[in-house]
Amino acid sequence: MQNILEDFPAWKDNVIREEENTRYLKAGRDFINEPEITRLIRESADAGRSRVREIIAKALEIKTLELAEAAVLMNVKDPELWEEIFSAAAQIKKKVYDNRVVTFAPLYCSSLCVNNCAYCGFRSENGVIQRRRLELEEVRRETEVLAGKLGHKRLVVVFGEHPSSGADYICQVMQQVYAVEVKTKNGTGAIRRVNVNAAPMNIPDYRKIKEAGLGTFQIFQETYHLETYNRVHPYHTIKGNYLWRLYSLHRAMEAGIDDVAIGALFGLYDWRFEVMGMLAHARDLEGFFGIGPHTVSFPRLEPAANTPFVKKGEYLVGDEDFKKLVAVLRLAIPYAGMIVTCRENPAVMREVIPMCTQRDAASRVGIGAYSERTEEQEEKIQQFLLGDNRSLDEVICDLAAMGYITSFCTAGYRCGRTGDNIMTMLKSGKEGCFCKLNAVLTFQEWLDDFASENTRKIGEKLIVRELAEIEKRMPKDFSPEIFKSFKEYHRRIKGGERDLCF
Ligand code: SF4
Repeated sequence: MQNILEDFPAWKDNVIREEENTRYLKAGRDFINEPEITRLIRESADAGRSRVREIIAKALEIKTLELAEAAVLMNVKDPELWEEIFSAAAQIKKKVYDNRVVTFAPLYCSSLCVNNCAYCGFRSENGVIQRRRLELEEVRRETEVLAGKLGHKRLVVVFGEHPSSGADYICQVMQQVYAVEVKTKNGTGAIRRVNVNAAPMNIPDYRKIKEAGLGTFQIFQETYHLETYNRVHPYHTIKGNYLWRLYSLHRAMEAGIDDVAIGALFGLYDWRFEVMGMLAHARDLEGFFGIGPHTVSFPRLEPAANTPFVKKGEYLVGDEDFKKLVAVLRLAIPYAGMIVTCRENPAVMREVIPMCTQRDAASRVGIGAYSERTEEQEEKIQQFLLGDNRSLDEVICDLAAMGYITSFCTAGYRCGRTGDNIMTMLKSGKEGCFCKLNAVLTFQEWLDDFASENTRKIGEKLIVRELAEIEKRMPKDFSPEIFKSFKEYHRRIKGGERDLCF
């Protein structure tokens, strides 16, 4: 580790290539027009009810909102109108993604980080964290637990920014994860989609990762507010370069990565500004590439070991505002997947899940925490503390009782349904048809291999309901041939075959 840090200046110079950003600036300016965002938030306070309803109607047509429209929604005071916004957000979710909730787990691979973000347990100056990078053998062990004991099919692999966890290591991790296949109760288990959450890269490095089988590349801006950004990310660190991060996903798309994921860490600055920043980000990606982000994330600041910054935050977001920001994001970028994470406690989860499309479950955010976890070391190995520590079985049971089917589907990117292709299908509601079938098939796999008796009972009832609904939607949404293949796949999965999908 000592040698690596001595090499750091040369490595840092090689990471950031400012010239890769230049083509995306307009008249030398980036897409966050701070005075304009601030003005819109301030001046949209008195829009009438009819204006609010016009904006809701536009979102229901699955059209990206203008910044001015999102500002109007965020300024609504009337609780009844907020109920209409929440209801529209749930309708949009249902229209685009049906009653599915895609489930995944994070796999933290390295807590070594050269940055020093004030809010993060992994920041370089935090001496209480036990740091390390997983060896590939350990990645295999972690994956065996995730795929073989818990039944996950989709991971987001997470890395701090460090020379030892650059593109080459990330590719090795992905290949290791994909190589694991484990025997389960009635079939086999494997991770079929690996998404990556890592530091911004240059274009050649993005290309490497795409070739290694990347699902989605996820980078959160943390805060779009420049002054706040500079305050919490020291200038001499790589992350201290605001523009390098702001255009990280433009560069990823230029490198051929179709599915990119944006996010902000809510609690660093005014939540309204961050929502506007995310919308501006989505619109700028749409403008350059014809498609926006595949997913949006909205984590809230959470406590971390030896990290007093979090407790002092003047912009911490309460539960009521959190629900509002989720709803406005749902309306503003209606085609995007919306990810809520285990940072939120079960009660908050239940409030926002009707507007969201993905969640993690049974998550561990420490290095080696799935295969080696011991309660007493937990705080010292993880990036922050979680709000929802329920098992996957409990989460799935809870979702099923609310009428949501947990989907482990990973077919989209393997069948070429990514990027522009998937966005068109999502906006027209066609992707939903494939996904509905795959949700039932993958849910059945999970029930047969991993569910407790009680969850299985509730889950099977839900599947019966889904089968009846699919049959009813034929031939409008599913041709008789597809329905026949679907029934055949379902029968074969119950017999122990795995990974049959549309
Ligand atoms: S937030 Fe990320 S970049 Fe910043 S210190 Fe933590 S791990 Fe490093």
